[in-house]
Amino acid sequence: MNARARACPGCGKPAVTAYRPFCSRRCADVDLARWFRGQYRLPGRDGEAALDPDAGLDGAPDTDSDQGGAR
Ligand SMILES: [Zn+2]
Repeated sequence: MNARARACPGCGKPAVTAYRPFCSRRCADVDLARWFRGQYRLPGRDGEAALDPDAGLDGAPDTDSDQGGAR
């Protein structure tokens, strides 16, 4: 049974039963991270729109102050 240990896809070392098919948790984490990165990589999402809400928040208080002015 021990002789049939599979090679870890991360580094090629014999895999450990606890972390199959990897040899250690580190290799499992690395592989998982790589897999996640590929899944989250969505085209057309550069975060440009994220700058818009920030600018709008800056101008919102200004308008509110102007409307509620009790001069
Ligand atoms: Zn490994």
